[in-house]
Amino acid sequence: MAYTRTKIVDLVEGKIDPDTLHQMLSTPKDPERFETYVEILQERVPWDDRIILPLGPKLYIVQQKVSKKWTVRCECGHDFCSWKENWKLHARIHVRDTAQKMEEIYPRLMAPTTSWQVIREYFCGECGTLHDVEAPTPWYPVIRDFEPDIDAFYSEWLGLPVPERADA
Ligand code: ZN
Repeated sequence: MAYTRTKIVDLVEGKIDPDTLHQMLSTPKDPERFETYVEILQERVPWDDRIILPLGPKLYIVQQKVSKKWTVRCECGHDFCSWKENWKLHARIHVRDTAQKMEEIYPRLMAPTTSWQVIREYFCGECGTLHDVEAPTPWYPVIRDFEPDIDAFYSEWLGLPVPERADA
């Protein structure tokens, strides 16, 4: 069963009712749903380079219109880096590594001990959007979330041609 565009708009806007959401998550995905989803996101961003893959609520891999280079981009239009790199290393990073910084977000005495755990927040350097949060041990390297196999995703899962890529 294919979901209507209206339902997917509700999903994007966070307005979907719990029953429909549960149904969407638990039934097999229809390939057109990805296309509709990306189409809706595309209408909402202020630039017209093609969205290849959404990485987060306001973070995307895009194909630059003229050069066909793929970059990791914030919704505001800021490009972090090439899609092959870890965008977090190009983000503005705020580390909560003291009791005082932890207490800004945790109730007193409920915060993690900073010798065991810190909180790293990754922001867009241009618009300040918070894109990701990690809670690793202090010595743990910057985490790379996942390396999507976009070629396989398009050709095998979606049955679509893989978008053109200049740096392939
Ligand atoms: Zn931004």
